[in-house]
Amino acid sequence: MIGLISATAAGAAARDRLAAAWPERTRVYEGPVADAVRAAFAECEQLVCFLATGAVVRLVAPLLGDKRTDPGVVCVDEGGRFAVSLVGGHGGGANALAGEVAEVLGAQPVVTTATDAVGLPGLDTLGLPVEGDVAAVSRALLDGEPVALRAELAWPLPALRTGGEGAYTLRVTDRAVEPAEREAVLRPPSLVVGVGASKGAPVDEVLGLIHRSLEGLSPLSVAHLATVDAKAEEPGIVAAAERLGVPLVTYPAGELARIDVPNPSEHPLAAVGTPSVAEASALYEGGELLVPKRKSAMATCAVVRRPARGRLAVVGLGPGARDLLTPRAKAELRRASVLVGLDQYVDQIRDLLRPGTRVLESGLGAEEERARTAVAEARAGHAVALIGSGDAGVYAMASPALAEASDDIEVVGVPGVTAALAAGAILGAPLGHDHVSISLSDLHTPWEVIERRVRAAAESDLVVTFYNPRSRGRDWQLPKALAVLSEHREPSTPVGVVRNASRPDESSRLTTLGELDPAWVDMMTVVTVGNTATRNIAGRMVTPRGYRWQASQEDAQ
Ligand code: SAH
Repeated sequence: MIGLISATAAGAAARDRLAAAWPERTRVYEGPVADAVRAAFAECEQLVCFLATGAVVRLVAPLLGDKRTDPGVVCVDEGGRFAVSLVGGHGGGANALAGEVAEVLGAQPVVTTATDAVGLPGLDTLGLPVEGDVAAVSRALLDGEPVALRAELAWPLPALRTGGEGAYTLRVTDRAVEPAEREAVLRPPSLVVGVGASKGAPVDEVLGLIHRSLEGLSPLSVAHLATVDAKAEEPGIVAAAERLGVPLVTYPAGELARIDVPNPSEHPLAAVGTPSVAEASALYEGGELLVPKRKSAMATCAVVRRPARGRLAVVGLGPGARDLLTPRAKAELRRASVLVGLDQYVDQIRDLLRPGTRVLESGLGAEEERARTAVAEARAGHAVALIGSGDAGVYAMASPALAEASDDIEVVGVPGVTAALAAGAILGAPLGHDHVSISLSDLHTPWEVIERRVRAAAESDLVVTFYNPRSRGRDWQLPKALAVLSEHREPSTPVGVVRNASRPDESSRLTTLGELDPAWVDMMTVVTVGNTATRNIAGRMVTPRGYRWQASQEDAQ
């Protein structure tokens, strides 16, 4: 919950805007400000104070305890111009909250935590447990001092600007090592602990066995406990997972029975229908059996190191303008340590990348190679962003990449504003009723197939947006496609031509099927042809939603 505190009328107005934007997340604290701050500090994970920073500093100072548990505090000034992350920047999430508050109020976020301010991730914000001399290593990374990366496991981390042999070390390991001086240890979730237990096995026994089995390994690297479905409610196992702070994952006995294990036995086969619970459930996702089955009186346990799963984010950058790049796309670009893309698109977002990001750019035409490279880098355990303009799944890199990928990597898709939508918004509302996109590039698709689809669109009165409409060496396809549409549509049918939508040299014109001059069209252009109902209304291309909507408001919007 986010506690909201204000003193003045202007502060209350801004507070109410935030409360209205996030009704589920916020609670308004009324009454004397000092009491309100104290109450909110005790009850909430985060505070937004519509007060001067000085006032808030005085009020929260006596309440501060530990940066890992204190709430994050954001201050918003009287004019609503700034959202200042005051305390709890990382642990309390105040840096991120300042950004969110600023977005809602149209303010400027103010973040002074060094690592965020220069675009490097704080070591404690990677979503992985980190131990050791975190402050010193973060500072060294920030100051550009050499930090040696000692990764025993390939894990998909963002770019960290590490390298060389330095006085500082960043270790990535699941082994139980004591961090040395000037060393921070990141704990990837690489271990799976399989457990079995007889009915009524006490939690202390289960936990004790788990800890003994993890000897030499870090409990902070345990991703989850695993067992058979029949034990999903077994109190000792459920409580052990809770105390370790990890999820419990269960599998059907039949599937566990199929997994090859070194130490099967008769007992679980009779009780739950699989010759192995601990080893089989730990090995379910594959990996290396580090600790074969161990037993206590009523429980069994085995530990597996699962294979590192690299991460492939397929990110659409939108049509060009920076403000049409989604916040999620931006976050994925900063989450990556390897970026793969066409050189011109890389240039578009280079400033957003974290220092140290490895950029693999290539020229036009190297699609297959780019897709293969991106997948290979993810397979090697890296966090990869594969970028494309518009939406990366529309006539772009997502399909060739996913055709190469297998289930040994995690794949994340981030949608982008595709050219047809960017052009539609410029033209008016051409896509107000059913529509299709057709690419006129016959490089990979035989012309007969393209023509058949254009004809089907013509016959079914669909609005059509042509991608890849015309290039220097490919000039007869667009006139041919328009001729097919003309068999079913009047010469007066509106046609929108948009070139470089949302880019600095954007241009557009609204013309008709009869008057369109193909010379206006090139590879930077999309052409949207209306259906028989599309009209030019006050210079805008409008496709009505249909007579029923006019008659009743039933399916409005
Ligand atoms: N993935 C892209 C499309 C790639 S195909 C997307 O979702 O938008 C390339 C074609 O897209 C170009 O030939 C052109 O027809 C169209 N296109 C891409 N960006 C455009 C833009 N900003 N303005 C107009 N057309 C664009």
